[in-house]
Amino acid sequence: MSQYRAPLAEMQFVLNELAGLEQVAQLPGYEDATPDTAAAILEEAAKFATDVLDPLNIVGDRVGSKRLDDGTVQTPPGFKQAYEQYCENGWLGLNKNPDFGGQGLPQLLATPVEEMWHSSNLAFDLCPLLTQGAIEAIELRGTEELKQKFLPNMVSGKWTGTMNLTEPQAGSDLAAVRTRAVPQGDGTYKLFGQKIFITYGEHDYTENIIHLVLARTPDAPAGVKGISLFVVPKVLVNDDGSLGERNDVRCVSIEHKLGIHASPTAVMAYGDHGGAVGYVVGEENRGLEYMFIMMNLARFSVGMEGVGIYERAYQRAVAYARDRVQGKPVGLDSGASNAPIIEHPDIRRMLMTMRAHTESMRAVAYVTAAALDNAHHHPDAAARARHLAFAEFMIPIVKGYSTEVGQEVTSLGVQVHGGMGFIEETGAAQHFRDARITTIYEGTTGIQANDLIGRKTARDSGATARAIAGDIAKVAAELSAQGDASLRAIGTRLAASVADLRSAIDWIVPAYGNAARAAQASAVPYLKLWGLVAGGWQLGRSAAIAARDLAAGKGDSDFLKAKIATARFHAECLLPQSSGLAQAITHGGEAALALSAAQF
Ligand SMILES: Cc1cc2nc3c(=O)[nH]c(=O)nc-3n(C[C@H](O)[C@H](O)[C@H](O)COP(=O)(O)OP(=O)(O)OC[C@H]3O[C@@H](n4cnc5c(N)ncnc54)[C@H](O)[C@@H]3O)c2cc1C
Repeated sequence: MSQYRAPLAEMQFVLNELAGLEQVAQLPGYEDATPDTAAAILEEAAKFATDVLDPLNIVGDRVGSKRLDDGTVQTPPGFKQAYEQYCENGWLGLNKNPDFGGQGLPQLLATPVEEMWHSSNLAFDLCPLLTQGAIEAIELRGTEELKQKFLPNMVSGKWTGTMNLTEPQAGSDLAAVRTRAVPQGDGTYKLFGQKIFITYGEHDYTENIIHLVLARTPDAPAGVKGISLFVVPKVLVNDDGSLGERNDVRCVSIEHKLGIHASPTAVMAYGDHGGAVGYVVGEENRGLEYMFIMMNLARFSVGMEGVGIYERAYQRAVAYARDRVQGKPVGLDSGASNAPIIEHPDIRRMLMTMRAHTESMRAVAYVTAAALDNAHHHPDAAARARHLAFAEFMIPIVKGYSTEVGQEVTSLGVQVHGGMGFIEETGAAQHFRDARITTIYEGTTGIQANDLIGRKTARDSGATARAIAGDIAKVAAELSAQGDASLRAIGTRLAASVADLRSAIDWIVPAYGNAARAAQASAVPYLKLWGLVAGGWQLGRSAAIAARDLAAGKGDSDFLKAKIATARFHAECLLPQSSGLAQAITHGGEAALALSAAQF
C-alpha cells in the first residue's frame, strides 16, 4: 500500500528558486521565515501528514461522518484525536496574526504545508480551511469586541468556523440570498433562514462552532448590494469568555456525497425557535464585498487542494506501476521475464503527464502565494499594487485550472492501476472522487472563468494580461537563446504558446464588450489556455535554474535532470494544446451558442 511522502526537495526548490522565499523573508513582519525555519516546519508537517493524516484518509472515506438522532454529527474514528493533535502543534495559526495567537508566517510558507494536508487527507483539512476563512472575515472587518471574543479561540482551534453562503435558490448567484437578519435594537440581530452545503456545519471536534452567515436586513436593497455578513455562534459566548446558552441554529441533515465523505456537509436551520443571535461584521449591506476580499485566499486554497490531490494520486500510481508486473515491454531487453508496468511506454506517458501537471501547477501556485505576501507586506506602495494585480489575475487560474487538471490527473491515476483502479481498496478511486468537488465549490470553473475574462482581463483592457504574457515571452526568448538543446526546445515551444495567448487576449478584450455571450462561451477555454501557458512558464524557469546548477556542479544531479526532462515533456507534449485552445476561443464561442435552448 502506498504511503504519502511529502515531496520536500521539490517543495524547497519551488519555494526558494521560483517563488523567492528569501525575498519574502525580507518583507517587514516576515523576518522569521528564514530558509532554516522553513525547512524545519516542512519536515514537521511532513511527519504529521504521513504518520497521522494519511492513514486516516481511507478510514474517513469508508466510514464517513454521520448525523445521529440527537442532531450531533460523529466524525470517523481517529479524526477528533487528529484534530486535537493538529491544534496542539499550532498548525491552524501558522500564518495567522500573532495578536490573536497565530505565528504570523507568510502565505508562501503556509502553502506547501497546506499542500501536505490536502495530499494526505483533504476531508480532514476542510475544517481548518473553513475556520481560517472565518477568522479572516472577522479580522478584516469585525469590531475589536468581536475580534477579542472569537479570534483567540478560533486561531488556537478550540472553536472552528464555517462559511454560510449557499441557500437552495442561491448558489453561484448570491444575489438571491433570502436568510433574514432582524435588528434587535441592542446591537444584535436575530437570523431566520436555511443554508445548505455547509462544510463542517456540525461536528464533534469542538464545543463551539462560529458560523459566518450571509443574510439580508429588513430594509436592505435587492440584489448583491443588500447582503450583510454576520457572526452566529453555535453556543453564545458570555462577556467573560465562558460559554452561555445554545443558540437557535442546528444541523438538520448532512448530505451523502460522491467524495470527501469524512467532511460533514450540513443543511443548517437558523431561527426555528425564535431567532439565532448574530453580530454584524463591518457595515450592513457590504457583506458580499467583504466576502470577495476573503474569497481570494479561499479560492487559492481550493486550487492548492487540486495540487495536493494530484501529488498523492501520482505517488500512488508510481508505487503501483513499480509493483504490478504485466507483459513484456517493447524494446526492453528483459529477456523472457515479464516486467513491472512502469516499463511500458504508455504508462510512462501517463506518469509524465501527471508529474508535469503537478509540478507546473505547484510552481504557479507558490509564485502566486509569494505575490500575495508582497501585495500585503511590501514597503513600497507601487510594488504592492503590482503584486496585487498579478495575484488577483492568477487566482482564478490557480483555482480553476488546477482543479480542472485534477480531474484528468486523478483519472490517469485510476487508469495506471487498470481494473484495480476501479476497485476501492487501492485508494486511486478515492482521489478521483474526492477531486471532483474542487471544480465546484468556492465558485465553479465557469464562475472563475467569467471573473478572468471580465474583472481580470477586460476591465483594464487587457493591460495586466498583456504584461504577464510579456514576462512569459521574455523567459521564452532567454530559453530559446541557450546552447542546451532541451532549453532551446522548451523556449521555442513556449514562445509559440505565448503567441496563442496574445491572440486570445486580443480577441477576448473587445468581445467581452461587444459579443458578451460568445466571450462567456470561450471563457473556460481562455482560463485553461492561461493555466497551461503559466505552467509552461514556471517549468521553463525551473529548467533554466536546473541547467545552471548542473553546470555549476551544485545540488542533486538526478533531481535537476528530472526537472529539465519534466519541463521538456510539458513543452513538447502538453503545451502544443495551446493552439487548439486559442482556436476554440477565437472561433468557437458562436458555435457553442448555435442551438436554441429548445433544440437540446
Ligand atoms: C461538498 C460541498 C461543500 C460545500 N461547502 C460550502 C460551504 O461550506 N459554504 C457554502 O456557502 N457553500 C458550500 N458549498 C456550495 C458551493 O459553493 C455551491 O454548490 C457552488 O457555488 C455552486 O452553486 P450551485 O450548487 O447552486 O450550482 P449552480 O449555481 O446552480 O450552478 C449549476 C451550473 O450552472 C453554472 N452557472 C451558474 N451560473 C453561471 C454563470 N453566471 N455563468 C456561467 N455558468 C454558470 C455553474 O458553473 C454550474 O455548472 C458546498 C457544496 C458542496 C457540494
